[in-house]
Amino acid sequence: MDGKKLYDIVLKGGRVIDPAQSIEGICDVGIKDGKIAAVKTDLKGSKKNIDVRGKLVLPGLIDSHAHVFQHVSGRFGLDPDMAGVRSGVTTLVDQGGPSCMTFPAFRKYIVEPSASRVLAFISIYVVGGLEGHYYPYLYAPEGVDVKATVRAARENADLVRGIKSHAEIGGFERWGLDVMKLAVKACNELDLPVYIHFGQLWGRPKTPKYKVDVDKVLSDTVKILRPGDILAHPFTRHPGGFVNSKGKLHPIVKRALDKGLKLDVGHGSHFSFDMAKKVLDAGVLPHTLGADMHGYNTSVLPQPGTPTEHPDDEMHLFAGRAQFSLCHAMSEMLALGVSLEDVVPMVTNNCAAMLGMEGEIGTLKKGVDADISVLNDERGSWTFVDNSKTEVHADRLLTPEFCLRKGERFEADASILPQPDLIAA
Ligand SMILES: [Zn+2]
Repeated sequence: MDGKKLYDIVLKGGRVIDPAQSIEGICDVGIKDGKIAAVKTDLKGSKKNIDVRGKLVLPGLIDSHAHVFQHVSGRFGLDPDMAGVRSGVTTLVDQGGPSCMTFPAFRKYIVEPSASRVLAFISIYVVGGLEGHYYPYLYAPEGVDVKATVRAARENADLVRGIKSHAEIGGFERWGLDVMKLAVKACNELDLPVYIHFGQLWGRPKTPKYKVDVDKVLSDTVKILRPGDILAHPFTRHPGGFVNSKGKLHPIVKRALDKGLKLDVGHGSHFSFDMAKKVLDAGVLPHTLGADMHGYNTSVLPQPGTPTEHPDDEMHLFAGRAQFSLCHAMSEMLALGVSLEDVVPMVTNNCAAMLGMEGEIGTLKKGVDADISVLNDERGSWTFVDNSKTEVHADRLLTPEFCLRKGERFEADASILPQPDLIAA
């Protein structure tokens, strides 16, 4: 056959997992004109074959919790393609970086020039996530404009998938639930989910307006949330999260899940293996897995205007170098005993559902953009360490090899990727 080839690229012989289509097995993936053309065994008629035997071939990974408003949010915002396609991730969801005031810049300077697909949960605060929410007083109810945020979300409906807010102890002591109520109000008008951060972030006020019981932060917040809203950072070691002051899973969590709320790991700096074990052992499995990487937990040089110290200055250290990736967060889930069959949906179809994009991304369905992540699936002996210095042994390590974004190939060569030989044996 020398006429027109059926495919531009065929990924040959990888272990394909596409939970959205219940596909799991060794087969080929054919790509034509930047779209998925076929997932079958033994595809023939391609301009180019790529041998991916022994590797995992997954729908393009989606990081539900990214911070990529680079050059605007201070040291907080990473280079989108460094966290994205050059780390094997095809879609990034910025959590609360851009706001109604700054969304036009986010579109022009971040979304449009990036090879990675970039979406956002728009900040409920007019200033957005500047400097990693460094100045608490900017996040008061007076700093929220529901009308302007709703308008910005409507004007950018192709990118805005929800609204970001915080159920944070310091915030509760200053303003109670007021900001979250405004976020829910805006989300009701937009029919979008709200994504709520749990765990301490901006510190506690010297003279609190409200006396706050840490165990009520979660339960009071859940009361005002709706099915589809997202609770983030279930594995935080900070008070006011999923593990209560008695060291047990907060009883509200199961009721929240019954009510249809969703959980996002939102790994970040405060991820704790001990907390993760408690939550997982209690039978609670998060729906999505965001890496929550930013300039305070990875090796990125300070940007002009950045505070010299930040409460989130906690690096993921491997041999003295702060590195992280969504794939590494997946490896940590495996080390905690979550199966690969449960981890893959967290970064593919479950995340697509959270974004209201089921069947559009996070799947290898015929006709969708050819966003595909190819991972190495190594066996050996590694030790993972969290920021509380708790260690977990791992015998399996997932690392990105390359990804295709709309059929275009990007090597996983980001400087922040953890190097397997630097992870302690
Ligand atoms: Zn974050």
